[in-house]
Amino acid sequence: MLEETKGDFEQFAYVVSHDLQEQVRNITNYAGLIAKHALPDADEELRFYLEVVTGSAAKLNQMLAELLAFSRIGRNKYVEKIPTPKLLDQVLKEMGGEIAASGAKLHIGAMPQITANAAEIRLLFYNLISNALKFTGAASPEIYIECTNKSPDWEFSIKDNGIGISQNHLQKIFVIFQRLNLEEEYPGNGAGLAICKKIISWHNGRIWAESEPGEGSTFYFTLPIMEL
Ligand code: ADP
Repeated sequence: MLEETKGDFEQFAYVVSHDLQEQVRNITNYAGLIAKHALPDADEELRFYLEVVTGSAAKLNQMLAELLAFSRIGRNKYVEKIPTPKLLDQVLKEMGGEIAASGAKLHIGAMPQITANAAEIRLLFYNLISNALKFTGAASPEIYIECTNKSPDWEFSIKDNGIGISQNHLQKIFVIFQRLNLEEEYPGNGAGLAICKKIISWHNGRIWAESEPGEGSTFYFTLPIMEL
């Protein structure tokens, strides 16, 4: 049964990364050729149609990459002891440019040692912090990252002062490709939180958000306290 599931996954990953992406590449390449031949004489309408085709193909390509990343969560079952401050340092270093550009202030509380898959927890923090930096309102972002011992779990929280989320959307945002805002205003694919949810459920934790529109958001997740 396990082997069968593994076979299904390999097939799925292959189809997404190879067969589907190849079709998208064809669309992009041929749209490029049409543009090259037709654009010199094209009217505004035709230019617009071509823009839509190439824009959609690029978007589809990104979505396929996200789908593949989503499907891969939990494949690597290696867990180790991780000092969370060191892991957070790595994430913040990686995001250095983004943080500096936004003028964000970060406040980081005392962080424990956890037992988890390091690459996945790094991705989890990366996604949550980059959302806190992205969905900002008029004020420059102020982000609080904290952890409390809620035995038998660690409870982490990432709090921002951004645009907030209405009550009826608090569940929907964890579904893959669900977004609440216009792409032009806040770019993204809507896969980040679905990936976070899969990472956390694989680690036997819970993830949720509390928010009010205009009042900022707090994302919480738990990880079981355990010794290796
Ligand atoms: P993306 O960031 O690519 O849009 P996510 O899956 O990370 O996708 O988030 C899904 C949606 O949840 C976002 O499009 C946004 O509407 C909402 N959201 C996520 N994080 C925040 C936040 N910190 N503040 C306000 N809205 C958020």
